[in-house]
Amino acid sequence: MSDHHPEHIASVGEFLAHALELEYESAERYRELAGNMSVHNNPEIAELFEYLARMSDLHAQEVEEHARDIQLPQIAPWDYKWAAGGSPEANAAEQDEELSYLMTPIQAIRLALHNELRGRDFYARVAAGSPDLEVRRLAAEMAEEETEHADLLEQRLAKMDPRRAEPVEDLDPPNMPE
Ligand code: ZN
Repeated sequence: MSDHHPEHIASVGEFLAHALELEYESAERYRELAGNMSVHNNPEIAELFEYLARMSDLHAQEVEEHARDIQLPQIAPWDYKWAAGGSPEANAAEQDEELSYLMTPIQAIRLALHNELRGRDFYARVAAGSPDLEVRRLAAEMAEEETEHADLLEQRLAKMDPRRAEPVEDLDPPNMPE
């Protein structure tokens, strides 16, 4: 049975299996968005998405490091403890549909923001509710980083004029901390 409660994740192995799935999916999503923005001749936003894809790669690498000495459980797609409606797969299907239409940069950034908030909410719920101290600690770190990514996208959105769906002016590229 599927369990829509991230806070029921009770072991480090189970948490890492979820985090890996989420970060792989997220990196893939960003590369699609980056490709889409390149096609639209918007290299600046394509670059922002490439950056966020690399951040997801880094997260996945960190998770793999943590997982080196731990046997990760095999989880069937329907047994992941994503919040209701929050599974990466469900969102992927939904977003592929949207990607098939011409997307403005604003729509692309909104989609990316939705992605980040989904990740942040997942980690935050685990951090708040898992019975395992180490799981809560790891999830809290991830939640904090996802919050930073969401902030980056929100700042970028704030610089755009929704009527023109184009950057208002050529502002400095977003801060990209290493
Ligand atoms: Zn992120």
